[in-house]
Amino acid sequence: MPHKIAILGAGPSGCYLAQSLLKLDDALEVDIIDRLPVPYGLVRYGVAPDHQGTKGVARQFARLFERQGVTFIGNLDVCTGDHGGEITLAELRELYDVVVLATGLPTDQKLGIEGEELEGVIGSGALTRAWNDHPDSHDLPPAKTGKTVTVIGNGNVAMDIVRILSKGEGEFEGSDFGTHHAERIAAAGIERIEVIGRSPAHMAKFDPVMVKEIGKSARLRFEIADLQLSAGAEADNTRLQALATLAGIAPDDARCTVSFRFGWSPVRLVGAGGKLTSAHFTRADGSEALDLPSDTVITAIGFCDDARLGRADLVAGATDIDSGRLAPGLYAAGWFRRGPRGTIPENRADSQAVAAAIVEDLASLAASDKPGRAALQARFDRLTDYAAWQRIDEHERATVSEGRVRSKLRSRRDMLALALNETETPS
Ligand SMILES: Cc1cc2nc3c(=O)[nH]c(=O)nc-3n(C[C@H](O)[C@H](O)[C@H](O)COP(=O)(O)OP(=O)(O)OC[C@H]3O[C@@H](n4cnc5c(N)ncnc54)[C@H](O)[C@@H]3O)c2cc1C
Repeated sequence: MPHKIAILGAGPSGCYLAQSLLKLDDALEVDIIDRLPVPYGLVRYGVAPDHQGTKGVARQFARLFERQGVTFIGNLDVCTGDHGGEITLAELRELYDVVVLATGLPTDQKLGIEGEELEGVIGSGALTRAWNDHPDSHDLPPAKTGKTVTVIGNGNVAMDIVRILSKGEGEFEGSDFGTHHAERIAAAGIERIEVIGRSPAHMAKFDPVMVKEIGKSARLRFEIADLQLSAGAEADNTRLQALATLAGIAPDDARCTVSFRFGWSPVRLVGAGGKLTSAHFTRADGSEALDLPSDTVITAIGFCDDARLGRADLVAGATDIDSGRLAPGLYAAGWFRRGPRGTIPENRADSQAVAAAIVEDLASLAASDKPGRAALQARFDRLTDYAAWQRIDEHERATVSEGRVRSKLRSRRDMLALALNETETPS
């Protein structure tokens, strides 16, 4: 019997891993399991809705399920015994020869400063999930964006957020950004977006292309401060060049000012009556302080574990974390293995290394006597499969609003009704 592999997490690293495993041994039986009824992780629920080209990588992953014999098992929440879920990791390991954790890092990293609990402070993960209509995010408050928004962080996720907030109505053509989100942003009438980070400009984490793209939005004025911190940086520094392309843009009819500031650490968020009013920063050496009036702060400083799979203990006790080996028969891949760094394609090399380790270890393992997916299908009657995802996909494309490429189903209930051919019609 072929060895049975369960990859937990149908995001890019889980999909790349399945690809790599089958390339090394096409007799393996590979299942990709996800807690959501639908596949593709942050491709669907993180990548900005107006970056459809990037989301197109899902077409490549679809070949796994359509042609390469990989089975998608959705709507199954796996976790350690203490965190609810439908099946524990220990139980799943009993059913498969190999289990790989490719569940990403879903939680917003905290600033760790006073005032983070104030109304008006939102994490970038929570906000981008809401904008992407993640089924667990319908009660999040993207509607509450005020007129003065401060985005803390200067990586690509911060740039996605600034671009979306600064787009005007009509600039979301060809995206799958819900019209309800676009209307809320327009209704907020944002007048000023402060983008502020710790690094000097020449060392900021953003991709220069992302900054240039913000400059393409109509009727924005740009202010770039703190470039003196980059004095002496090479003249060909592409980040400085990208900022320079924005520096002169200041149309008379600007509807919003986008200001970039560098070299500031957040020290405190201040509010009145439980609502945010300002964000306070200092230089690393304490030489200067800066107070920014803000009715919304969006933190975009990275992501961490939600503890549901006991990542900290697993990683601490790993036998060889570099090749993804956590324990015999248990592996890690992608962001779960190496932290919240890297783009979608960067998960590919990572997954290739983990696949090589798995296949090497399986060589000394006897033929499989594990039940694999048959045991899951016998125990759970509301699992989704790839055909179920195709029904959801088709529905979302068929019911699309004008100017959009997809209207996502926003609740798990609606997705399951369609996926499982239940009687309720999605709203
Ligand atoms: C907001 C945002 C925007 C981004 N934009 C881009 C971009 O434009 N271009 C780019 O190249 N990269 C982008 N990235 C980075 C890219 O998304 C990551 O490199 C990539 O998604 C990491 O893949 P992953 O498979 O490790 O994790 P994920 O994509 O997070 O996939 C993890 C999967 O595991 C599932 N899961 C979680 N817990 C469980 C559980 N207990 N049981 C079962 N399943 C579970 C989740 O539902 C999810 O489907 C972005 C990241 C973020 C956060």
